[in-house]
Amino acid sequence: MRAVVIGAGLGGLLAGAKLSKAGYNVEIFERLPFIGGRFTNLEYKGFKLSTGALHMIPHGSRGPLSQLLREVEAKVTIIDSNPMAIIKKEDESDIEFHDFKKELSVTKQVKLGTILAYSLKFKPKSDISFRDWTLKFFNDELLLRLADSYCGWSLSLAAKDVPAHEVLEIIDNMYRYKGPGIPAGGCGAVTESLSNIIKSNGGKINTKTCVDRILIKDGVAKGVSANGKVIDADIVISDIGHHETSRMYECRDEKYLGFIKTTRPSRGIKICLSSDEPLIGHSGVLFTPYAERINGINEVTNADPSFAPPGKHLVMSHQAVISDDLNNEITLGLGDLKKLFPDKKYEVLLIQSYSGGWPVNRVSSGSDIGYKTPVCNLYIVGDGAKGKGGIEVEGVALGVRNVMKEIGVG
Ligand code: FAD
Repeated sequence: MRAVVIGAGLGGLLAGAKLSKAGYNVEIFERLPFIGGRFTNLEYKGFKLSTGALHMIPHGSRGPLSQLLREVEAKVTIIDSNPMAIIKKEDESDIEFHDFKKELSVTKQVKLGTILAYSLKFKPKSDISFRDWTLKFFNDELLLRLADSYCGWSLSLAAKDVPAHEVLEIIDNMYRYKGPGIPAGGCGAVTESLSNIIKSNGGKINTKTCVDRILIKDGVAKGVSANGKVIDADIVISDIGHHETSRMYECRDEKYLGFIKTTRPSRGIKICLSSDEPLIGHSGVLFTPYAERINGINEVTNADPSFAPPGKHLVMSHQAVISDDLNNEITLGLGDLKKLFPDKKYEVLLIQSYSGGWPVNRVSSGSDIGYKTPVCNLYIVGDGAKGKGGIEVEGVALGVRNVMKEIGVG
């Protein structure tokens, strides 16, 4: 059986590794000169920056991505963060993530425990946003700010833009799998390892090769055309989302095209800093609910010093984009960093913004329409089709697993 994969991002490479291990003849086409998409390293002044991700795997060594990596025998070490996360309070002091309840009155603590336990079991059926849900049950400043900080860091969305049922699904997974963790060597170590597996199983990865057409006969995918050359296949997997994929063939399914229109990407800004001294001093996430724009910060050198030249630290902040004025968003982010670390010396290495065709999430959480297309044997993987409750690359792994189940590759 021959499988063609469009795009060598994490989704395409995970699917390619699974298929090649199952005996498929896999060929991947990547339009860029490098593999990994938004999940690979970007070497800069001796630092391992990245093309996208903050080098974090949301559920660490126990989550869906880690499980899939073990299944395909990827040689990747995931270092679990310790502590998982810290919250910077309004008075600048820090508390452990799980201790935020202690900041509430006893009555609110009891209410939170009861409502959360109930809502995790019986998630809201309506599309009430996470902000409105929080407001409905707890009109509490810290909880509302924490909701924005958590959604901004992990989904690149404000809490008002995500359905509560999706966030509760994510919280459920957070209790189930724990996390986060950092891949030793960065996200590039993960995608490189997958590429090695594909090649060692006889698969081929072509870079600088853009797929321009998906070939379909009688409603069944039959291959692709890349750089003008036709490649036949029994199955076509696309890592570029529903929208871009549907433009590669004559899609007349109005219902499906209507669904695609309801999906939207999420935008974000990452600021990479270098410092001689640790700025946060641990390998978890620092949530910053009282900052104006920054939602959270990590310092990956506390897990693996090889992210920076000897004696240096790599610190990365992330913020959801709130307005269309990107310059102002960046200025506010830089201002937050000054306020958060008033006495620390650091250098801004790089500021990266993500939107349009290179977003934080191709389909933001809660607007996912799944992996199926109207064409037989054509499936979507990657963050354009994540599994339910799947946060970031954990969602990519869940989506790939769903596709593999569908085509009978366990
Ligand atoms: P992509 O990585 O976009 O891969 C798609 C590939 O297809 C690309 O390489 C593209 O060039 C190629 N392509 C497109 N069109 C064609 C064509 N016509 N022919 C051939 N190839 C084509 N997730 C986490 O879990 N943890 C994090 O810490 C984290 N932080 C993030 C921070 C930022 C700022 C950003 C932007 C993202 C972050 N994410 C994080 C999200 C994560 O990076 C993405 O979800 C994941 O990398 C998406 O992988 P993908 O395979 O779906 O897509």
